[in-house]
Amino acid sequence: MNIWQTILFISILSLGTLNSQDAGENIFSYKINLEYYADDIFHVTCYPPKLTSADTIYNFVAFAPGVHQVLDFGRYVKSFYAYDTKGEEITVENVSTNKWKISNPTEVHKIKYDIEDTFDADVEEDLIYPMSGTGIKDEYIIINTQGVIGYFDERKSDPVTLDIIYNTDWEIGTALVKNDNGSYKADSYYHLADSPILLGNLTVSSTKIGNIDVEAYVYSPVDEINSDKIIELADEVLNSAYEFTTFAPVDRYTFLMYFFDKETAKNNPIFRRAGALEHSYSSTYALPAMPHFLPHIAGIIAHEFMHILSPLNLRSEFIANFDYSKPTAEDRHLWLYEGVTEWVSKIMQLRSGLLTIDKYMSDISKKINSSERFGNDYSLTRLSAEWFTEEGKTKYGNIYQLGALTAGALDLRLLELSNGKRGLREVYLELIGKYGKDKPFNNAAFFDEFVEITYPEIKDFIDDYIKDNKPLHYDEIYNKLGIEYIESRPSENKTPIFGLRFTEGEDGLIKINGFSKEHKNFGLQEGDHILEIFGTEATWANSDSLIAIKNEMNPGDEYIIKVKREDEELEFTSELVRRMDYHVFEVNEDAHDEHLKLREQWSKNLKLN
Ligand SMILES: [Zn+2]
Repeated sequence: MNIWQTILFISILSLGTLNSQDAGENIFSYKINLEYYADDIFHVTCYPPKLTSADTIYNFVAFAPGVHQVLDFGRYVKSFYAYDTKGEEITVENVSTNKWKISNPTEVHKIKYDIEDTFDADVEEDLIYPMSGTGIKDEYIIINTQGVIGYFDERKSDPVTLDIIYNTDWEIGTALVKNDNGSYKADSYYHLADSPILLGNLTVSSTKIGNIDVEAYVYSPVDEINSDKIIELADEVLNSAYEFTTFAPVDRYTFLMYFFDKETAKNNPIFRRAGALEHSYSSTYALPAMPHFLPHIAGIIAHEFMHILSPLNLRSEFIANFDYSKPTAEDRHLWLYEGVTEWVSKIMQLRSGLLTIDKYMSDISKKINSSERFGNDYSLTRLSAEWFTEEGKTKYGNIYQLGALTAGALDLRLLELSNGKRGLREVYLELIGKYGKDKPFNNAAFFDEFVEITYPEIKDFIDDYIKDNKPLHYDEIYNKLGIEYIESRPSENKTPIFGLRFTEGEDGLIKINGFSKEHKNFGLQEGDHILEIFGTEATWANSDSLIAIKNEMNPGDEYIIKVKREDEELEFTSELVRRMDYHVFEVNEDAHDEHLKLREQWSKNLKLN
């Protein structure tokens, strides 16, 4: 008997007398049939345990942990039915985007619904990023479980089982484990929603890092990208992660990666975004299938993997008992989940020798430059509270810049106050030891607790740089390590620049969407569309050749630029400017002894008590 027949046999049994309802357990038993997936729809059947009269609403996920966008998976539901034990239909009503009201829940024996994948559904607004969505493609299927399976509000802690019927020539990857009868099992809806599944024509590889079994499942349209390559890339960063934590917060970790080619990105706007999403025991990656992009993947893996520390093992009650129906506005600790995680993903590489101090500091420099573009209206706690508002969405990206920069500054403040004995790593690991996966911290009290276990001076740091957004003084912060800060200096790259920021505009033209600090005002305005530059017609498609012309010129050289502003055509004489570098750091090898000592302590993982 092959596996295919086993699954079929079990599912026939479960239709009969042996389903979980009869066994008297509180198990929600799901089945997704992917045997025929040409219709591009997930066919889902659920055998719930005995429902109560309070279980009137079946919900689809609107928001999910770690995903900072509206999901509203209810938008993708095509049909929804509930049946009693006699197979008679029970009335259901779609009362809002994500909610189906069941008229007589206590009689429900079976729920059946069809839900489309998010990759190519008929939805135009709020497109879901490919790493957080669901996809049925010829060669692979990604089930971000929270996008396919819903929940009853009061039953999110009940266990769930999941049978997937699929083509057995395919590989299947997930952090979920199977029970004796071959179904995947999850302790609760939270656990299921946190456990994506990738199946298809995948390559599969594994390795062991410390005590952690690491697996990679990879779908790629090009042979140069495969699971062996991913494991090879992951190996070094995961080892540096292990040196940083010194213990295994999980015993198994699964990478689920699906790569897409240029053609796919061209034809489907969803794939103009790429990225990764962390889960507690796994992470999903939707990335362009470009072999030259591979070196960047190690950095992405480092960030996603370090989420096993936070939020998995250090998070507030709002994240632990996640409300999938609304954005998490109450939680104040995005600075920790994303900022500290991003800092860890870099500093651990410095401390294990994968990054030199120069390389680490050039990353800090990039982050300062990127952070500046977000302006300074949003503190880190304001980002936590308002990331989902129209304005907040445009600021959210700063959590990876300012959040990481602030964590770096906090580390140095702690090292300084403890005479180099206890930095952010040591405090962080101590808190993880105290809380861990099963014990969320108190959202409101956490800052006070952080101060209590460190120094009274840390209260000022939190007030000024996390709750408020006073500017960090990078000169003072890094001078303590004997690293000089230079606010600006002419770049070693001698080619001149326009001093303009560009984006693709209307009718294939180049649109001016901002000015760099070097720009001198010649009358150009944001929103102008460029018609001609250097006497040559300008289009988004020929911008490379225009840049080549510019690169042959010198700072101070004049040029004529013709633009369209509403219905007017205007001509300006502008000047190329010298390229500058901002927020640069230089390691001083002859620094003060005290600074060298702190640098030494900062650049190594300290011994843990
Ligand atoms: Zn993250």
